Amino acid sequence: AKSQGRNCYALFRPELEDSAIARSQLERDFRLAISREQLICHYQPILNATDMSIAAIEVLVRWEHPKRGLVSPAEFISVAEHTGQVVEMSNQVFSMALASLADWEAKGLWPRSAKIALNVSALQLARDILIGQLKSMGDRYTFSFSNVEIEITESMLMQDAEESARILESVREMGLSISIDDFGTGYSSLNYLRRLPINVLKIDRSFVKDIGHDRSDEQIINATIDLAHNLNLKVVSEGVETETQMAFLKDAGSDYLQGFHLSKPLSRSAMEEWLESESR
Ligand code: C2E
Ligand code: CA
Ligand code: CA
Ligand code: CA
Repeated sequence: AKSQGRNCYALFRPELEDSAIARSQLERDFRLAISREQLICHYQPILNATDMSIAAIEVLVRWEHPKRGLVSPAEFISVAEHTGQVVEMSNQVFSMALASLADWEAKGLWPRSAKIALNVSALQLARDILIGQLKSMGDRYTFSFSNVEIEITESMLMQDAEESARILESVREMGLSISIDDFGTGYSSLNYLRRLPINVLKIDRSFVKDIGHDRSDEQIINATIDLAHNLNLKVVSEGVETETQMAFLKDAGSDYLQGFHLSKPLSRSAMEEWLESESR
């Protein structure tokens, strides 16, 4: 009866079977992406709201698929998390990004107080491999950890609060800074946030997109910026796509701005050109 039940399921929900096949195909393809080094990094500037100079550069992975072209992480990160491939993926991403940082520092292109911001997956935190990964990058390349920031989502922190706090303390001791990504979409208590060694809150794009139309989103943004400043944290607003959004966010006191209106994520060479033009 059980197998019949399964058949019925497949019969009535054929799309489930399709998606399972697509998923295992993706898993196999992604293994090749890793072994054949098809992953590349793009770099999106995060600008100071006051003078529009570079405050940070976020590293965003892409998959250069031989047939499909550039594939967005939205398509493969969750599968890679599920299979554990995200660990090897992040080794490659960190390695490419920190080699770039070392190169830009050596060429004198890196702005003194700018950070390179690395996205960290839940698995890197949960399996306690983040610190080891960062240390081995420090052994391989010559860069300063004070120029490196990690981005961790609010929801990841809440999975094991005490363990996360311990890991973040070690990250801070190494000289890195820490930012909370997608802020406002999770459920962290303010009391908890106050006790973590955090430097930056990134206001999620979902609040930014309705600026000018949704008064309650605007109030949430104002309240978040006040809260962050009271806790001595800086604020990045993500997903800034319009002049109206940018003007509102500057006025609200957002320290930094990131989004297509300022710059799309850039290839390594395009990013380097930007750094060259800023350093002249
Ligand atoms: P995220 O960390 O929230 O990254 C911001 C995403 O918003 C990026 O998408 C970026 O291209 C996009 N974005 C930036 N400005 C705008 C804008 O003005 N409008 C809109 N609509 N989108 C904007 P992307 O590159 O597709 O990355 C998606 C997610 O994949 C990231 O979200 C992050 O969670 C994950 N991810 C990307 N790279 C890595 C990585 O190296 N490691 C890990 N663990 N996750 C990564
Ligand atoms: Ca991020
Ligand atoms: Ca985000
Ligand atoms: Ca809204």
